[in-house]
Amino acid sequence: MHAVAKSELPKKICAACGRPFSWRKKWRRDWGAVKYCSDRCRTSGDRKTRP
Ligand SMILES: [Zn+2]
Repeated sequence: MHAVAKSELPKKICAACGRPFSWRKKWRRDWGAVKYCSDRCRTSGDRKTRP
């Protein structure tokens, strides 16, 4: 057993598409508030289905 790898980044599940995504530099300030993997998912996050 060895220590955690340096390259290991935090991960979350996108609230819109349900896929896992990793920490990105652009989120370093608000990673705690990030819910979506992309702007696209963020935009459509509130809508679960479309007509
Ligand atoms: Zn997503």
